Amino acid sequence: MSDLAKLAAGIVDGSVTVIDLTAPLHSGTPILGLPPEMGQTAVFTLEEISRYDDRGPAWYWNNFHTGEHTGTHFDAPNHWISGKDLDDVSQVPAQRLVGPAVVIDKTAEVAANPDYCLTVEDIKAWEAANGPLPKRAWVLFRTGWSQYGDDPAKFANADENGPHTPGVTPEAAKYIAENTDILGWGVETVGTDAGGAFAFDPPFPCHAMFMGANKYGLTQLRNLDKVPTTGAVVIAAPLPIVNGSGSPCRVLALVAG
Ligand code: MN
Repeated sequence: MSDLAKLAAGIVDGSVTVIDLTAPLHSGTPILGLPPEMGQTAVFTLEEISRYDDRGPAWYWNNFHTGEHTGTHFDAPNHWISGKDLDDVSQVPAQRLVGPAVVIDKTAEVAANPDYCLTVEDIKAWEAANGPLPKRAWVLFRTGWSQYGDDPAKFANADENGPHTPGVTPEAAKYIAENTDILGWGVETVGTDAGGAFAFDPPFPCHAMFMGANKYGLTQLRNLDKVPTTGAVVIAAPLPIVNGSGSPCRVLALVAG
């Protein structure tokens, strides 16, 4: 049997589990709020076209309105000025939407400090235990933050100084951008950067460095506790919006056992 036939058989018999890493998409899905003088993204809304009624007797369907960066979504390289000449979301090669996945777990650190940021030392410690961050891998940053995903206020965790959610230090973002060949960085929070990253040097280092290095972002992931440290395969499927900077995205993990 070919490897692919074995995989298909494993999906059918349940020895390979498909884990949905996607948050449900609805009008209460948390979105990023920017300072009021800046452009704002839209919440997800449904507008009913017909529902087995005078407007369409046998069918139900909706229009929907949303931002590209709503809910579990994909950041394409052109989302950031550092990647403005790189791929839009429709141009990202399909071969680069699927890859091995690894998990870096800082749940305990984030429980103690919601502003916790991954350091270069953390990455080197992970690599000492598990080997180098694999080529063409999705690196999933497990923080436990998805437990707040149904409560937008708690999810943002903002006070007078801004949001307090975990992320990556500028030094660690630079290390990943320059020393790895990963596909992208996946997080449980509203964006790939820490809540306080507007004040980092440079600001929003994950966006600036990963997009500029042709790496992608995945946000608002769930169920990372069900993904092993190494050995899973992740499929990220954004809509191919022509000229788009990202898209809501179904993200699935294939896990053995
Ligand atoms: Mn985004």
